[in-house]
Amino acid sequence: MNVQILKNAIASPRQTALQILARRCPKWLFRNYVRLARKQGLIQPSLILSFDCDTDRDAETAPQVTEQLIRIDICPVFAVPGTNLERNAAIYREVASKGCEFINHGYLPHAYWDEGNARFESCTFYHEMSPEQVAEDIRRGHETLVGILGRTPGGFRCPHFGTFQRRDQLRFLHATLRDLGYRYSSSTTPSYGFLHGPLNQTRSMIIEIPVSGCFDAPLNVLDSWAFFSGRKEHSTPQDYRDQMMKVVDYYAAGKFPALLNFYADPSHVAGRSEFFDAMCYASERIHIWQSFQEMLDFNG
Ligand SMILES: [Zn+2]
Repeated sequence: MNVQILKNAIASPRQTALQILARRCPKWLFRNYVRLARKQGLIQPSLILSFDCDTDRDAETAPQVTEQLIRIDICPVFAVPGTNLERNAAIYREVASKGCEFINHGYLPHAYWDEGNARFESCTFYHEMSPEQVAEDIRRGHETLVGILGRTPGGFRCPHFGTFQRRDQLRFLHATLRDLGYRYSSSTTPSYGFLHGPLNQTRSMIIEIPVSGCFDAPLNVLDSWAFFSGRKEHSTPQDYRDQMMKVVDYYAAGKFPALLNFYADPSHVAGRSEFFDAMCYASERIHIWQSFQEMLDFNG
């Protein structure tokens, strides 16, 4: 576990209480989430899928994966760092032409190729940067997206998850986004959703939309890195499919209002039947939003 995440968890009594609840009484967490979701205007179980594209391999696989998803009525949202957008402009323009929403994902790269280990490693962590550097990265990400795609993004996602979650960090982030005229952010972990609901209007009026977790470990993000990259021994693609189905089943069976906000990396899921089976399963049972904007227009 990243040391910073661990430090944050220890520093926050709320986080510790959530961890205990998630282990001992997960149903309470789900019920509380549903109560908040209803209060925030959601009326049905629903899902939105987004792609974080941190490497050129993500760019290479993005068009094919998008096409496959559109065939099952899922239009993914894209979060691409500005440096990657610049390098793969033609690919992302093509993806945008299919109707996919793009959100600002900052400018600096989020991954680099580590020759020694022959794999990608993460870089650019906002908690290691000064507030001025963070604001500058957000602004440059915005300008690059506008320059390359000719669109003004309405939302933002932080690099990585879990390291920029403290209250003061989120306040700074949301105030910066408000000044850019943004409407929403999707930068927080499942814990945030259990505490504040799926569509929390913050004091900056930015709506924070946390990502969703596993069914059996509700505070753990259900993402492609954990289940498809082979980096976590006990998390397999089959587990991903099973967890997705369990989450969908829970909300569909009760017709509970919910926003399942899942993200993946295209290169992890390209050609993986477990991923497409899981998406197909969701698409047949619960409502799918085609963009964050569409979802907010409906629920706003
Ligand atoms: Zn990223």
